[in-house]
Amino acid sequence: MADPVTGPGGGGAAGDPVLDGFVPAMRLALGEAREAFADGEIPVGAVVLDASGEVIGTGRNDRERSADPTGHAEIVAMRAAASALGEWRLSGCTLVVTLEPCTMCAGASVQARLARVVYGAVDLKAGAVGSLWDVVRDRRLNHRPEVVAEVLADECGALLTEFFTHRRFG
Ligand SMILES: [Zn+2]
Repeated sequence: MADPVTGPGGGGAAGDPVLDGFVPAMRLALGEAREAFADGEIPVGAVVLDASGEVIGTGRNDRERSADPTGHAEIVAMRAAASALGEWRLSGCTLVVTLEPCTMCAGASVQARLARVVYGAVDLKAGAVGSLWDVVRDRRLNHRPEVVAEVLADECGALLTEFFTHRRFG
């Protein structure tokens, strides 16, 4: 049931113009997640948009292939974006990712000075952007990206559920 008194940022209902604005970028991130799935990787995908909304980096989880513990979709996409800009600061940029970032990726998005973090499915077991922790909105840090949660959350979550179901029974 919708609660109209959730205050700023508390929305999230279908048809929300802020959420809808990030749907095309989330679809791109979902495409990356599906590629990860096809490669046998946990299906998480990400894109980074510049201030004008143009895609400047894409990434998908590649921990198995790269044998890299930091090979999360967000890190891969942020590295690609920084490389494209020739600059470690991603000021004004938006990270769009299919799953709520973990502590490492939430920390990296603060380090990168991202303007905004947009995610799909909530990660109740390891999420660090509102679930277990809220690293990006911690007032003790001097940079706090804006957060837009649960864009295409059902679709993003369903892909993960499908992956883990296959892995268990496949
Ligand atoms: Zn992560």
